[in-house]
Amino acid sequence: MPDRSNLIQTLEVMFGSQYTDEYTVYDHATDIQDLIEGLPGKYEYPLLTFNAFATKAKEEMGIESSIIIGEGYFTFQESIGLSSEGPEYAMTHEYTHHIQFALDNGEKYEPSQHAKREELAADTLAAYFLAYDDGGRMSAIKISNIHAISYSVGDCSFNDDGHHGTPSQRGCATKFGASLSEQDDDLELIDLQNRFNRWYENVDDLNDLCQYSISGASTSLLDRSLIFGMAFVGMFAF
Ligand SMILES: [Zn+2]
Repeated sequence: MPDRSNLIQTLEVMFGSQYTDEYTVYDHATDIQDLIEGLPGKYEYPLLTFNAFATKAKEEMGIESSIIIGEGYFTFQESIGLSSEGPEYAMTHEYTHHIQFALDNGEKYEPSQHAKREELAADTLAAYFLAYDDGGRMSAIKISNIHAISYSVGDCSFNDDGHHGTPSQRGCATKFGASLSEQDDDLELIDLQNRFNRWYENVDDLNDLCQYSISGASTSLLDRSLIFGMAFVGMFAF
């Protein structure tokens, strides 16, 4: 069996207080290793490294600022035919989390919204940069692959505080970010944040085409503004 000192250290940090004399951290590590030994490919099984994340530096704990992307993440993208723009999306999305760390003003959101909001914001900013003329300069075809990739990493764990947005919402976030780049390729970061915050307010009303649904009918944001405008005028009509 491979060296398990890192595994034991990690388990101690995560579950330290829950171990007893009957079930120690060493028993837990053995159970995990037995499970992995039973997988196809054992320690090479792609699902074990199917993740990507950015870490914020915590000097007191010896944690450095980093971007960590597992091989399994790229294996997954290859398996769905999206390996060409996959690495760019992953790197840009994770880098955007570092921008979020730098901009963190301590504002707190509902735990059930926090992860979703951060992920959709990272998708929006990443797509803005990738489509941006002085950034990724991606063609429309490549950007459409970015939408598919972001769609592929959505989830439907609605009751989990770690919910990152549905596949549709993740795809819509990159479409929104790329469209901002088409409208105005010289937005300040604060403008991008404000535009995202306004878009996020109605994100749960978006349908799979990234349009807003009213009474079952699909409408664009422009159509919706017109409908609301007409309703407003109607309130004062005699
Ligand atoms: Zn993320």
